[in-house]
Amino acid sequence: MNLILMGLPGAGKGTQAERIVEKFRIPHISTGDMFRAAISEQSELGLQAKSFMDQGALVPDEVTIGIVRERLQKEDCQTGFLLDGFPRTVKQASALDELLTSLGRKVECVIHVDVPQEILMKRLTGRRICKECGSTYHLEFNPPKVAGVCNKCSGALYQRTDDNEETVNNRLEVNMKQMQPLLDYYQDAGVVKTFDGNRSIDVVFEEIAAFLGMMNR
Ligand code: AMP
Repeated sequence: MNLILMGLPGAGKGTQAERIVEKFRIPHISTGDMFRAAISEQSELGLQAKSFMDQGALVPDEVTIGIVRERLQKEDCQTGFLLDGFPRTVKQASALDELLTSLGRKVECVIHVDVPQEILMKRLTGRRICKECGSTYHLEFNPPKVAGVCNKCSGALYQRTDDNEETVNNRLEVNMKQMQPLLDYYQDAGVVKTFDGNRSIDVVFEEIAAFLGMMNR
């Protein structure tokens, strides 16, 4: 099961990733997580990545491709993997193809969780987070019992500074521009499977799991 997960911010990609790797027992390979871990370890890689991440820019392809190449050759990836946040450029995608070909493997499915931009806008701008325990709420889809107060610990709820309308719009545009060429690349290869992400987490996951179960037979 050599899988790639794609979706815009707010599409529920993180949650689906967790569930997919648990059910199919494959490693979750998130380049963002790998970079964040490297930064907290203050390793050479962390130092290289940090300045780019701080600016919200992509880490250079050579660095990113290098860490993915190393990671995919580890023992736990032999039966498959779920890539999340990689590839982000067509150069990364073709490097991945080359690497997999050299290992006698290929990308089998790109799972695309698709949610209309206006819904993503609503999901992201309505998000509220507890200052004390980090629990997340949504003004409309998952409101707290008392406005502005966490159900679990009574902490005050706040809105992330980058969850305002202008920044969200910008984030969505930038991500869309990044993702589209990759979707085109994998459409050409005939491996994209799009799931309607504008439904509950459980329903979306059931559909993904059923599809992967069939693919894996
Ligand atoms: P993420 O958690 O996937 O949003 O990634 C956080 C940050 O890590 C991004 O803004 C980039 O700076 C860096 N990053 C993660 N994945 C990649 C990638 N495939 N190529 C380049 N930079 C990446």
